[in-house]
Amino acid sequence: MSYKSWFLEHGNKHKAIMKKLTHLSDEEVIHYFRFENMVEKEPDFCPLYADNKKCHDMKALNCYLCACPNFRFDDKGFKKIEEKTLYSTCDIDSKDGGQYISENAIHQNCAGCGVPHHEAYIKKVFDRDWFKIMKRCCGS
Ligand code: SF4
Repeated sequence: MSYKSWFLEHGNKHKAIMKKLTHLSDEEVIHYFRFENMVEKEPDFCPLYADNKKCHDMKALNCYLCACPNFRFDDKGFKKIEEKTLYSTCDIDSKDGGQYISENAIHQNCAGCGVPHHEAYIKKVFDRDWFKIMKRCCGS
């Protein structure tokens, strides 16, 4: 599956959940997306939920902005850097970000960055339409 296909599928899952949450305030919606609640109530949202496994080692992990509005990806690659293709970058150049570099490809490594998973950040950029927040991610 390409990143774009995953992104669209994930966004549609997010949309379907949001349709059920119209009775909740913005703050309650954000709380609903807390990892522990999502594992229990929305087991199909993320494959990691089956093993109760977090993607980041954070005590308070929130899944509302999974995919991250600062992540930029192009399945065809942004550019060539020497003989490698650069497929993804971080728009805020997070100090906790890094890169996976293989023989032919360079990918953004978000493993050490928790920016979009903190509720203070989610509140700052909050919109009930996930696609609206993510619109710059991969030209969606
Ligand atoms: S933020 Fe991590 S645990 Fe939550 S849905 Fe995304 S990948 Fe899964």
